[in-house]
Amino acid sequence: MSTRIPVAVIGATGAVGQRFVQLLEGHPWFQVAALAASEARVGQRYADACRWVVGGEMPAAVRDMVLCPATAEALRCPLAFSALPAAAAGPLEEGLARAGVAVSSNTATHRMDPDVPILIPEVNAGHLALVEVQRRRRGWPGLIVTASNCSSAPVTMVLRPLLGAFGVRCVHVVTLQALSGAGYPGLPSLDILDNILPFIPGEEAKLEREPLKMLGRLAGDRVEPATVAISAQCNRVAVADGHTVCLSIGLERRATPEEVAEALRGFRGEIAGLGLPSAPEPPIIVRSEEDRPQPRRDRDAGAGMAVTVGRIQPCPVHDIKLVALAHNTVRGAAGGAILNAELLVARGLVQAVPPVLASEAKQSPTGPERGMGMASSAQGASSQ
Ligand code: NAP
Repeated sequence: MSTRIPVAVIGATGAVGQRFVQLLEGHPWFQVAALAASEARVGQRYADACRWVVGGEMPAAVRDMVLCPATAEALRCPLAFSALPAAAAGPLEEGLARAGVAVSSNTATHRMDPDVPILIPEVNAGHLALVEVQRRRRGWPGLIVTASNCSSAPVTMVLRPLLGAFGVRCVHVVTLQALSGAGYPGLPSLDILDNILPFIPGEEAKLEREPLKMLGRLAGDRVEPATVAISAQCNRVAVADGHTVCLSIGLERRATPEEVAEALRGFRGEIAGLGLPSAPEPPIIVRSEEDRPQPRRDRDAGAGMAVTVGRIQPCPVHDIKLVALAHNTVRGAAGGAILNAELLVARGLVQAVPPVLASEAKQSPTGPERGMGMASSAQGASSQ
């Protein structure tokens, strides 16, 4: 029996799915036990079906895994990471939750559902209380939690400590978003080389909406969104990985660049001390060099999970301007969803055996092959 929690990756052949597979290799709590892609690839070996694009080698342990459909019966895991396109995610993620699976999703589909949290654990771990509301309303034993949109992640991480220390009235944000954010193969080279595209479908609306939910206050069965006006302009640039966001921020109370830097440097967030394996320490790195952050130099800070901030200056339009950067497929996608799943385990929200398999186990003397092995370290975490 495995000593780690068996997990599934659905959408495993895509850019984010591959990042999940890469980051989960050697994870102390989780072990990849099942992979799913679209119906067209079911039955194929992962190594044959997947063109590996995330650097390094495809982990040996997954090469011979056979792709299966994204159903609880096929995946046989208590926890699933979803990297599906939004159009496919709705019914598949809901089917898993109905069967008792905890779904940690990257997809936008359920993000704005009132009973589904968008989680950045350092920012709003308390919003996990929505899972009980979700289970009550939808009558399912599993759950769905979502990670934020890739550019919302650095914006929200930066705003959290500033809201607490000074209050925030308004934000103008301009993004410079990496190519990997468009999936693989992404954009035609003739559209993006020697060029900047000032339009990413749906992105500005997400960036003006999602941070407000994450920064909002839990009030009974819902989140009251934060009352900050956000104006976003999103651009695709010819950078492989790492989203840069340039922010001009109006504060409730005046603050110097030094005070802002201090608030960001001192931020530890709601999960400090929980010992979650993917949590970076510190979550925000403040750099004082005048030409940082840069994607090539800073995207891997904190194993890709830290947000790097620099260029903190007084702003003649609002109060403070700064530049922040986060790795879009790590902190802004797969790494963020893995950290969310670690929080679920620490809070005791991942079931050892999904009900759909537990009923099978009752009928069979040998029981299900997967879904039984909770990691000893993870069990330790759930008592914290
Ligand atoms: P992608 O490269 O296009 O990969 C999509 C994956 O989903 C593939 O494995 C594909 O399998 C599978 N799939 C497609 N249709 C399916 C269906 N009907 N049923 C089951 N599986 C299906 O996309 P991506 O860039 O990895 O993005 C995945 C999700 O993460 C999207 O919702 C995206 O918005 C979100 N996201 C992406 C980023 C980023 O930086 N890239 C950041 C945050 C969030 P096949 O190979 O069989 O087609």
